Amino acid sequence: MNPFIELGIRHDIVNAISELGFENPTPIQEQSIPVLLTGSNDFVGLAQTGTGKTAAFGLPLLELLDFEENYPQALILCPTRELCLQITNDLNNYSKNMPNVHVVAVYGGASISDQLRQIKRGVQIVVATPGRMLDIINRKAIDFSKVKFVVLDEADEMLNMGFQEDIDSILSTTPDEKKTWLFSATMPAEVRRIAKKYMTDPHELTMGTKNTGNANIEHEYYIIRARDKYAAFKRIVDFNPEIFGIVFCRTKIETQEIAESLIKDGYNADSLHGDLSQQQRDKVMKRYRDRSLQLLIATDVAARGIDVNDVTHVINYSLPDELENYTHRSGRTARAGKTGVSISIINGKELGKIRQIERVIGKKFIKAEIPTGFDVVEKQLFALVHKVHNVEVNEQQIEQYTPRIMEEFKELSKEDIIKRFASLEFNRFLEYYKNAPDLNAAVEERRPFEERGERGERGERAPRSNGGKSEFTRLFINLGSVDEFNRGDLLGYICNNTKISGRTVGKIDVKGVYSFFEVANDDVEKVMTGFKGIDFKGREVRIEVSGEGTSSTRTGGERREGGYNRSGGGERREGGYNRSGGGERSGSGERREGGFNRERSNAGGSTGGGFRDFSGKRREDRPERRRRF
Ligand code: AMP
Repeated sequence: MNPFIELGIRHDIVNAISELGFENPTPIQEQSIPVLLTGSNDFVGLAQTGTGKTAAFGLPLLELLDFEENYPQALILCPTRELCLQITNDLNNYSKNMPNVHVVAVYGGASISDQLRQIKRGVQIVVATPGRMLDIINRKAIDFSKVKFVVLDEADEMLNMGFQEDIDSILSTTPDEKKTWLFSATMPAEVRRIAKKYMTDPHELTMGTKNTGNANIEHEYYIIRARDKYAAFKRIVDFNPEIFGIVFCRTKIETQEIAESLIKDGYNADSLHGDLSQQQRDKVMKRYRDRSLQLLIATDVAARGIDVNDVTHVINYSLPDELENYTHRSGRTARAGKTGVSISIINGKELGKIRQIERVIGKKFIKAEIPTGFDVVEKQLFALVHKVHNVEVNEQQIEQYTPRIMEEFKELSKEDIIKRFASLEFNRFLEYYKNAPDLNAAVEERRPFEERGERGERGERAPRSNGGKSEFTRLFINLGSVDEFNRGDLLGYICNNTKISGRTVGKIDVKGVYSFFEVANDDVEKVMTGFKGIDFKGREVRIEVSGEGTSSTRTGGERREGGYNRSGGGERREGGYNRSGGGERSGSGERREGGFNRERSNAGGSTGGGFRDFSGKRREDRPERRRRF
């Protein structure tokens, strides 16, 4: 039996949602639908957007209302026009097989007379933003005296936006015996207060732990020097060729600046902020939804209610002033059971803020490293290779050109042709990134005593101190993301082949065609022996001690190793990309490699030009705004 039928939803609704691809209820639907269907409880649901909460309250409402009557029986209040339209649209979709269901969307910035006309014609469900709703109530154009259910959706957002008084006034026009269902992503004291004020003994449902973000979101932070922020951000974007992201800034000027710089640098980006007219906003959102934009640069307020599936990354270009906003921001990714990454680009002074956010969301951040220029080049190259591999060939159309193409290539071997195709993109990236500096800033964090030497998330291990020497050795392995390994897979693969315990494996850094991992010094031999003669899909698996540093030289505070292909001695030449100019470290510990520092000494100069039409204008030319925390 269809699981929604088992939950008590009738066939005509189930048929409609099946067409939307709802096969199984999401956890919040599973738990709230049976409770709400009784129609006899007030209800508080602590749930993020993207968890399926619209159907969680929408399906029971459709079951409980009397659609033979044409007066308002349910009022759904939500913070933004976007969410209002989304909910209305969802309800219309769920009820498309039901006769005489009338849902009206009431929101500001659109013709009030149209909305009044729809109300006059008769509606059972009103979905509204508080401001316009109050306006209509004040015109005495609606009668809520027979409302049975009020839904307060994204209650925390409504309070953040200052709608408390409007909500009070609106609810005062509804009968006392109505049931109130409140949904909120977070539960600050103000939401608790309204829950207490409007509800009696509500049934409470928490998805995950309180105030915890979506479990499918991985939270990462990068530490950079303030002046390198834009360059670091771009590198993260370049390292994720398939990114479909929302970038959060604190001010609208910042959103505009970033969007302008990105556009100038050849990215598909645009900004969304409070100064845009509704029409402009709609246009930007349409382009984003259609994927004509890859990056949407937004302020917190402008991004409220943004409801786009498949957002792969949320990037906190600036951390939010209000901690609660971090949850809202990151909740824009990993919707509908998907996974997503929330990235924060911070300077060393903001690390304390990350620790505070960790406490709020109840989850550890992973400290990530800004990819090297080489990492980006490699990632982009393989993205291109995959694209070429997977491209759909229109046999019919291309047939007429095939003989001429063959003729053109007849002197070249298959290998030569492949190399040339790949080089089309690769050369541009190589050129752009050839002198790219290391953008990671070294920061020593004082951690509470009890945390020191403990393992955080994998990928972030505070090195265990051993008289100033690490107990870990960093190893290179010639397998990486192109072999479809992530950190977890690689850990399993290492443990299976070597029989060492996962607990003795430290930081795992998965790259494109290779990876690094740390193992306890005592286990290095076991790993070497374990992988002897092992092959992966016909390729010999190779393990080497990474870079210049073996365990005995790596001290606790030291960061990224010289690593693959970049260290002076033991230089590796693989796949022909040799970027090293013979590494050397200056006395200050600053890396000076193959011209890696040229960008910085070349004040205001170009990073090399070429790729994405880079204008050469560096962000540090602009004064950095002072941070409020
Ligand atoms: P919401 O949290 O209501 O905004 O829902 C987030 C997304 O998940 C929307 O695109 C819904 O269409 C989708 N969705 C909701 N419930 C289900 C379900 N049971 N199965 C599949 N997708 C769902």
